[in-house]
Amino acid sequence: MFYRDSWIELDLDRLQENIRLLIQRSGKSFFAVIKANGYGAGDCQIARAALEAGAQMLAVSSLDEALSLRAQGIDAPILILGVVDPSFSDLLIRHQLTVPAVSLSWAQQIVQHPVEGLKVHLKADTGMGRIGSSSAGELKEMADLLETHGVQIEGIFTHFACSDAADNRMCDLQMERFAALLKELNRSFRWIHCDNSDAAVHYPDSISNAVRCGIAMFGITSYTTPLQPCLSLYSRLVHVKQVEAGTTIGYGATYVSPQREWIGTLPIGYADGWIRRHQGRCCIIDGVECKFVGRICMDQAMIRLPHEMPVGTRVELIGPHMPIERVARELDTIPYEVMTLLSDRLAKVYLRQNEVCEIVNPRLDRLMSANLPR
Ligand SMILES: *Cc1c(COP(=O)(O)O)cnc(C)c1O
Repeated sequence: MFYRDSWIELDLDRLQENIRLLIQRSGKSFFAVIKANGYGAGDCQIARAALEAGAQMLAVSSLDEALSLRAQGIDAPILILGVVDPSFSDLLIRHQLTVPAVSLSWAQQIVQHPVEGLKVHLKADTGMGRIGSSSAGELKEMADLLETHGVQIEGIFTHFACSDAADNRMCDLQMERFAALLKELNRSFRWIHCDNSDAAVHYPDSISNAVRCGIAMFGITSYTTPLQPCLSLYSRLVHVKQVEAGTTIGYGATYVSPQREWIGTLPIGYADGWIRRHQGRCCIIDGVECKFVGRICMDQAMIRLPHEMPVGTRVELIGPHMPIERVARELDTIPYEVMTLLSDRLAKVYLRQNEVCEIVNPRLDRLMSANLPR
C-alpha cells in the first residue's frame, strides 16, 4: 500500500533470467550479493528470487544485515563479507552465519569465544587493500588455529579492484597472487570465489567455483551483455501550471522561466535519494525528455513540460528510456551509488509476469494493518 506517487519497480522475472544467464555463462555456482538492503531493491525479495533462480548462498555486508534476513525467515546459507567482531561468535553459530577470517589477530581473538561449528571463508587480499591477508603463512596459521578449535574452513576468497577496466592487467596480477596463495596453502576448499559481477561477465577464471554477483542481477555491468535491466523509478505529476516569462522556480530562485511555459511538480526529492545534483538533468514523459528546473527540494521537484499535461501523468526517472547507466554518467558517479541512494521512503513494487505481486512500503508496512487509517 502506498499513497505517494513515487515508486521503484522491480521485474523479478527479469532478475531471475539474469541470474540463470550468469550461472549458465560462468558455469559456476552463484552467490547472490544482497548487501545494503539488496542494493536498495529489498533484501528479502531479492534473496528469495535469487534462491529460486539457483543461488547457493547469499552474501551481505554485516551481521545486522544477516540477522535481518534470518528474522525475515530466510534460512539459506549466508556469508557476511565485512569484518565481524569476534565477540559475536555465539550469534554467528546460533544463526548459522559464515564469516571471513581476515587476519591472525582476528582468529586469535575469536578462538577465545565459543566457535565449535562456526564456518569461515579465509579472506585473501590480493590487491584490493581492504580486508584480509596477503600472506600465505598468515592464512595458513589462521586456518590451523581455527581448525584446532573446531571451526570449519569452508572457503577462501578474494576481491578484484579493477574488474570494471577493459584492461585486464590488474585482474591478471590479482589472479596470479591468488593462485600462488592457494598453491602454498595446499588444501582443498568447498568454495573458492573471486568474481564480482564485472569479473563474472568479463574475466572468466579457471580457479574459482562460484561467482559473487550483486549489480549484474539487476542487468547492470560495465560491459555489453544480454542481461536485462529490471529496476525502474517512476513518479507522477501532482501539480501542473502555466507560468509567465520571468517566473522563479524553487529554492534560491535559480531558475527563471525564459518564456511562458508549463511546469510540473513531482513528489520526489533528495530525501528519496533523488539528490540535488539532478537539477538540469532530464526525466521522461511519453518518451520525451523533460528537464528538472530549479533546485530539487527534500520531497518535491519541478520539471519543464513540453505542453499542458494532466495531473497524474506518469514520469520515468530511471527505466527503459532513461537507463541507470546514463543517470550515473550524468551525475559523474556509478549505477551502484544511484541505486543505493534510493531511500526506503520510496515504495517498492515487485512484478511477476508483468503483474504486481508485492508492494513494500516501510512507512506503512511496519504498522499493524488494523491500525492503518482508512
Ligand atoms: C559488493 C561486493 C560484491 C558484489 O559486487 P558486484 O559488483 O555488485 O557484483 C562481491 N564481493 C564483495 C566482497 C563485495 O563487497
